[in-house]
Amino acid sequence: MSNRVVQGRMVTPETLAELIEGESVLEAESIEDADENCPACGGDVIQVGYMPSVTEFVVGRKCQECDWAADDRD
Ligand SMILES: [Zn+2]
Repeated sequence: MSNRVVQGRMVTPETLAELIEGESVLEAESIEDADENCPACGGDVIQVGYMPSVTEFVVGRKCQECDWAADDRD
């Protein structure tokens, strides 16, 4: 388990994925450091791979300091 602090709250991979997705996810992998800084505030960005549905795998990114989040859907 790789819990991290995001915006002052401890998150698990599942709760981080839900923050990014805006709804519950089926499964989430470990949280990793994304090799980038937040475009909104310059804070550290972390990433997590997750399955929002049985047929989809998404890598989502989230700033640890502000509301900025993104995923790799295009
Ligand atoms: Zn930020």
